[in-house]
Amino acid sequence: MICFGKPEVDGDGDSARTLKLIKHHMKYKPEEIIWVHYRCHQKIHDADSPLTQWIQYAEKEKKLFYKNKKQDDKTLGTIAKWKL
Ligand SMILES: [Zn+2]
Ligand SMILES: [Zn+2]
Repeated sequence: MICFGKPEVDGDGDSARTLKLIKHHMKYKPEEIIWVHYRCHQKIHDADSPLTQWIQYAEKEKKLFYKNKKQDDKTLGTIAKWKL
């Protein structure tokens, strides 16, 4: 999603395991989630130069989201996912 590389894979052939991807919220209202590499996720939230292209929410929205989530855990929005 971020680096447009393939999901990183550990090992070869049948024993290959896809390395863990991190869930990143692009938006909270409506909910939009992308799956990124751990490294890419760090880049998105880089303190010096965050990739604002991938952060389309206000800090306020985020807080509201997690507050509401406690009450309604079943709300699901758009989930963009890697086809593995
Ligand atoms: Zn990546
Ligand atoms: Zn994130």
